[in-house]
Amino acid sequence: MSDTRCPAPIGFADCIDYWAGDLTRVEEDRIEDHVFACSPCARELADAEALARGVARVAREGRLHSVVSDAILNRLSADGVRIRTYTLEGTGVIPCAVWADDDLVVARIRADFAGVDSVTIVTRRASGEEISRISDIAVRPGQREILNALSAAHLRKLPATLVRVTVTAQLGAGERTIAEYALEHAGALDRTKPSAHA
Ligand SMILES: [Zn+2]
Repeated sequence: MSDTRCPAPIGFADCIDYWAGDLTRVEEDRIEDHVFACSPCARELADAEALARGVARVAREGRLHSVVSDAILNRLSADGVRIRTYTLEGTGVIPCAVWADDDLVVARIRADFAGVDSVTIVTRRASGEEISRISDIAVRPGQREILNALSAAHLRKLPATLVRVTVTAQLGAGERTIAEYALEHAGALDRTKPSAHA
């Protein structure tokens, strides 16, 4: 057992699918064999179990920072978690905000991930201060979208600010920027105010 980084992480989405019973027997065996020898992934699998069992609570307590799948979002939604989604695609500044009764804010990040095995997604304020960082996100061949979920409770602490989301890939010794998006974050809004992009 090693406590260092995993060279081939299972990925949180697959961990969730494991607990949700959405994997084949072969995929389940692969995960079980892997976590037996890999403590970072064993921890992630345990986190995924906590999420699978108490998703709504985790989201509402502001502890969720993760890459999710549509299957997870459907499950969260069925469990009563209120999800606000923004699609990050192309250029141009995307207006966004978090409302008083949102539980989860999801950035649907669309980019060309061709030739890339894994990416890091960093969300920063205009000042450069990091809001969230998720590293070593596995990308499957043909994948066109990564869903980055952030707790609304966490985002409600953020004032109105320009937000930058940067997707990078590690290539040899260097880092390549795959995509970069700018969001004009209007801050935490009250439900009584009209939503221009519900
Ligand atoms: Zn591992």
